Amino acid sequence: MKKKYDFLVVGSGLYGAVFAWLAKQKGKKCVVIDKRSHLGGNIYCENIDGIKVHKYGAHIFHTSNKNVWNFVNSFVNFNRYTNSPVANYQGRLYNLPFNMNTFYQLWGVVTPKEAVAKIESQKIRTDTPSNLEEQALSLVGKDIYEKLIKGYTEKQWGRKCSDLPAFIIRRLPLRFTFDNNYFNDLYQGIPIGGYNKLIEGLLEGIETRTDADFFADRDYWMSLADKIVFTGKIDEFYDYCFGKLEYRTVRFETETLQEQNHQGNAVINYTEAEVPYTRIIEHKHFEPESPAFLKNVTVISREYSTEWKGNMEPFYPVNDEKNSALHGKYKELADKETCVIFGGRLAEYKYYDMDDVIEKVMNDVEKYFG
Ligand code: FAD
Repeated sequence: MKKKYDFLVVGSGLYGAVFAWLAKQKGKKCVVIDKRSHLGGNIYCENIDGIKVHKYGAHIFHTSNKNVWNFVNSFVNFNRYTNSPVANYQGRLYNLPFNMNTFYQLWGVVTPKEAVAKIESQKIRTDTPSNLEEQALSLVGKDIYEKLIKGYTEKQWGRKCSDLPAFIIRRLPLRFTFDNNYFNDLYQGIPIGGYNKLIEGLLEGIETRTDADFFADRDYWMSLADKIVFTGKIDEFYDYCFGKLEYRTVRFETETLQEQNHQGNAVINYTEAEVPYTRIIEHKHFEPESPAFLKNVTVISREYSTEWKGNMEPFYPVNDEKNSALHGKYKELADKETCVIFGGRLAEYKYYDMDDVIEKVMNDVEKYFG
């Protein structure tokens, strides 16, 4: 008997929402469910005093894929936000990524030639670096490592750089131009009015249910549709039969302040080990065109990199041998499914930027529908 929907889409993040939109264009009927009380997955923004607060971490859209850029702009216009983070080390400020402005701030050098010479003189070369510290010292030298990398990385990983493997940092790009733009992509920006507009556009005319956990009534949800698009945790889908996959996560401490402009930039990294948080995000700077920008109120989030425990938000997959092998076992089961499509960062146990996840759905849909 024909079921009510062609697809049950579990998860209303970018993977689920883009899938549902593309399936609709192919004449398929979808219902999208999410266990959270809102749609949008991790790109959801909470509105606090007119400021769009990136509830699950700062999200900056950047891509070199023109198709993807045109696709997202067909739902909402993007502003020209350019990510130019600043590092605060012991109260002194340095531009990121490492570029001529940073080198001037560190050493007063004014030409690329002087900067190259300074960095070369600081490098501590090792033939085969045995840990992250040795790797970084051989790539960028002492000052950049000690002031801008060491403390930040140790907070991020919860371990000393000398105890972290060298492969975590393969390259440390150095830019010998006065260019503070963090990303090299052709296109970048933030949706005007926030990411919720993008999700609303994608899910317009599609049935959605929030506060609806697939695992709370699996049989009921599966009875609704011929096929499932699953974007939740793959290990949970299989009742953790091989064990639990691990994640890194971030804890946010969000505060509303009665001032117009707290730190003058969206992203400030705190690179010394003594400050417990890694970054402070001031959300209004993502949308300087918003009327809320000039108001005497602002929202900041301090970010604390944290070891993941079962009840926390699973953010970053841990790509070590143990977890990759475990994921491989789940993937073997998933590859045998004929009625379930596993997609997105939790179901594929893979870190995707937003543009990558959109490109992935586009390719998956092409594969399934032709
Ligand atoms: P999600 O957005 O996580 O959506 C999955 C959804 O499934 C969630 O809403 C969840 O509630 C739902 N779900 C899970 N289990 C169930 C269940 N059992 N029943 C019902 N619903 C369920 N990308 C960039 O391009 N730029 C950035 O600046 C950037 N910053 C990031 C910062 C952080 C801290 C993180 C973690 C990621 C960042 N990303 C960034 C990546 C971006 O968030 C992802 O590409 C995107 O969210 C992936 O979408 P998704 O649909 O796969 O996952």
